[in-house]
Amino acid sequence: MRALVAKIAMLLGVLCVTASSAIADPPAGRVTSVRFGGEGQATRIVIESDTPLQYHVFLLASGANRVVVDLPRVRWSIGGLTTESGSGAGAGVVAGYRYAHNTATTSRLVLDLSRPATVVREFVLVGKDKDEPHRIVIDLDPATPQAFADAATGDMGGPQPVAHQVSRKPLVVIDPGHGGKDPGAISRGGVKEKEITLGVALQLRDALVATGRYDVALTRSTDVFIELEDRVTKARNLGADLFIALHADAGGKPATRGASVYTLSPDGEKRIDGVSQQHDWILDVEVDSTRPDEVNQILRDLVQRETKNQSARFALILADALGGSGWPTLENTHRRKSLYVLLSPDTPAALLEMGFLTNDEDVTALQSESRRRTLVTAVSHAIDSYFDSQTMMVAGR
Ligand SMILES: [Zn+2]
Repeated sequence: MRALVAKIAMLLGVLCVTASSAIADPPAGRVTSVRFGGEGQATRIVIESDTPLQYHVFLLASGANRVVVDLPRVRWSIGGLTTESGSGAGAGVVAGYRYAHNTATTSRLVLDLSRPATVVREFVLVGKDKDEPHRIVIDLDPATPQAFADAATGDMGGPQPVAHQVSRKPLVVIDPGHGGKDPGAISRGGVKEKEITLGVALQLRDALVATGRYDVALTRSTDVFIELEDRVTKARNLGADLFIALHADAGGKPATRGASVYTLSPDGEKRIDGVSQQHDWILDVEVDSTRPDEVNQILRDLVQRETKNQSARFALILADALGGSGWPTLENTHRRKSLYVLLSPDTPAALLEMGFLTNDEDVTALQSESRRRTLVTAVSHAIDSYFDSQTMMVAGR
């Protein structure tokens, strides 16, 4: 979804700058200079452009050591000469650079390194007026071949519009509820919710990793206490494509049992802006301060609406999968509540109450790794369906 939003952001940015352009893929901007600085082997690369550019930088270890900067389709006008491709001499750890258009919609700058190095810093400087260029600044430091290899990636065959995104597999972040000093609900026999949630989270992680389709991260993999906001912050910092919190219910009558799936209620949606500001949950689209405030607000609303739709879509798929799995579910399996861990403005999220610790049958099932396999398989299949349908939606645009 972030890629899609970045694309929309880019398009809106282009529309604001060149409202009259009717070309299918207008250049997102003009790269006017590639410069080098730094002292000794520490090397600074400065890419100047006349409009702010989305970019993605990564290390590529195919044969030689390279640093690759992927950009939206730009006009190369380095040194005042507009060309389709070109090259130049480097400095420091950069032996030289080459640039070209990579695909119909992307351009690529390749820095050939004279020795292994890694990116130690990268940031954007926004031009303060129309005469001052926008700059992408990338700092490289020499590194061991091993450090380069660890940081390097294969060629992903295309640009990733969001910086730091180095993997094409969707990232699923699993959040085992409670932990440490917070046991969560406790069954009559003394079974703690925090143990159940961690046990299922680890089992679900293994099931997802085994599919080969996902990167998976846990907000905790041991019995530690984590604040709610830190769970969300961690998922956002990792660039989660889907966040799933695991809990076990308690309350009501002892006979009440079964799983339910929660997404954010309208009351919860009203809390998003305040909580996001409080914890600096800044959206990718907000990083660009050169856009008019109104455009950023439109983009922000767009991201939140898309996130809400995706969350609801996943919850429905999950409720269906659970219903057909043989794992008991509550009636009206998909429910809404104002839950803190679902407040991220840009991460599709759902919270799964896996069963009731106040129901003996549920407790027995939740404690058994083999019985839990039914639940884990249903969740894993739901995640497959969710990403499958998302791929089809994106492809259909
Ligand atoms: Zn809980």
